[in-house]
Amino acid sequence: MAKIRIKTPIVEIDGDEMTRIIWAMIKEKLILPFLEVDLKYYDLGVQKRDETDDKITLDAADAIKRYGVGVKCATITPDAERITEYKLKKAWPSPNGTIRSVLDGTVFRKPILVKNISPAVRNWKKPIMIGRHAYGDLYRSVEMVVDKPGKVEIVYTPEEGPEKRLLVHQYKGPGIAMGIHNLEKSIRSFAKSCINYALGERVDVWFSAKDTISKKYHAYFKDIFAEEVAARQADFDKAGIKYRYLLIDDAAAQVMKHEGNILWALSNYDGDVFSDVVAAGFGSLGMMTSVLVSPDGNYEYEAAHGTVRRHYYEHLKGNPTSTNSVASIFAWTGGIKKRGELDGTPDVTRFGENVERAVIGCIEAGIVTKDLVPLMDPKPANFQTTEGFIDAVAARLKSIM
Ligand code: NAP
Ligand code: MG
Repeated sequence: MAKIRIKTPIVEIDGDEMTRIIWAMIKEKLILPFLEVDLKYYDLGVQKRDETDDKITLDAADAIKRYGVGVKCATITPDAERITEYKLKKAWPSPNGTIRSVLDGTVFRKPILVKNISPAVRNWKKPIMIGRHAYGDLYRSVEMVVDKPGKVEIVYTPEEGPEKRLLVHQYKGPGIAMGIHNLEKSIRSFAKSCINYALGERVDVWFSAKDTISKKYHAYFKDIFAEEVAARQADFDKAGIKYRYLLIDDAAAQVMKHEGNILWALSNYDGDVFSDVVAAGFGSLGMMTSVLVSPDGNYEYEAAHGTVRRHYYEHLKGNPTSTNSVASIFAWTGGIKKRGELDGTPDVTRFGENVERAVIGCIEAGIVTKDLVPLMDPKPANFQTTEGFIDAVAARLKSIM
C-alpha cells in the first residue's frame, strides 16, 4: 500500500520516561509505516534540555509557530528530586509553561469516550471539553497576613497620576488579604483561542464567571468574551454553534445535566478545579487528550497525563508494563487530522480518523491496558501489555485501511 503524504511538516516533540517509550512505539508501528511525513524533531527529554540550557524548548516552540502544528510527548518538570535523579544543572521550568507562553495559547482538554466505559455522571454521553485561562488571578496573587489592627488598601499609581485608592478592609484584629490581577491582552487571547477551538470542534461555547458578585473583575472577562464572540458571529452561524454566558454555579449544575459536546471556558481557578472534576467524571487520565491552541491558530497536541514514572521504573527493571497509550496516540492523530484540515488533504484527515477508530475498536472489543479494566462493563478477562495494546491497534488499523 502506498504511503499517504502529509504536505506540511509536523513538529514532533519527544519527552521522558514511560511516555517516551510509548511515543517511539507509536511512531514505529502506527505512523511511519503509513505516512510520508517530514517530522521536525525536537528532543525535550530532560537531559537534552539540561544540555542545551533549555534552549531546545524555545526552539521547539518557535518551530510550532513556524509550521502551525506540533505533537508532544509528556515531559518531566524537574523538582529537587529530579535534579539529583538526572544530575541536572538546575530545575528547568515546565516545558509546557514555556511553550504556552511563547504561543500565548490556551490548553483544552477533551476525554476520549468508548461504549464500554460509562462516565461517573450518567447524563454525559459526549465529551465535555474544558478551556482553562492560564494567566493571573490566584496564580499570580500577592498576599499578606495582617496581624494587628490597621487598614489594607489597593493603591493604583498611573504613570501620569493621580493616584487612586480603594479600601480593602479596616482591620480591628488579625486577618488576611490578597491582591490579584489580570490583563486585557491575556483575556482576549484566551477568548480568541476558545472561539478557534470551538469552531474547529463545532461545539457550543459556555463561559462562566461570577459577575453578579464581582461586577468589575469578572464582568471584565464576560464583556471581552462577548466582544470576541460578536466579532466572529458569522463564523458561529456558519458552524451552527452558539455562545452562552452562565454564572459559574449555574454552569456547574447545568453541566451535570448536560449530555456533552460543549466547550466550557473557565477562568484560571475555576478551570483548575473543574478540569479535574470533569477528568475524574469521565474515568481515566489515560483517556484524556489535550491541545494548546494559540489565538493566531497554532496547535500543539499531547496527552493530559505525565510521564507515568512508576511504570518506567518497572520497565527499567525489565518487568512487563501495561501503560495506556491511548492519549499519546490521540496526540498524534489530533496533529495529523489538524494538518489534513489545514492543508486541505482529506486522505490525511481520514488516516487520523482511522487510527482513532482502530483504538476505539480495540477497547470496545475488550482489548485494553490494565488501568481501564476496573472501569469497564463488561470486564475483560485479561489485559494487554503496553506493546501488546499498540500491536493490536496496528493490526486493526491494517484491517480497516
Ligand atoms: P502521571 O504520569 O500522570 O502518572 C500518575 C499515575 O497515574 C501513574 O503512576 C499511573 O497510576 C496513572 N497513570 C497516568 N497515566 C497513565 C497511563 N497512560 N496509563 C496507565 N496509568 C496511568 O504522574 P507522575 O508519574 O506522578 O508524574 C511523572 C512526571 O510527569 C512528573 O515529573 C511531572 O513533572 C510530569 N508531568 C508532565 C506532564 C506533561 O508533560 N503534560 C503533565 C503532568 C505531569 P499507577 O501507578 O497506579 O498505575
Ligand atoms: Mg488541578
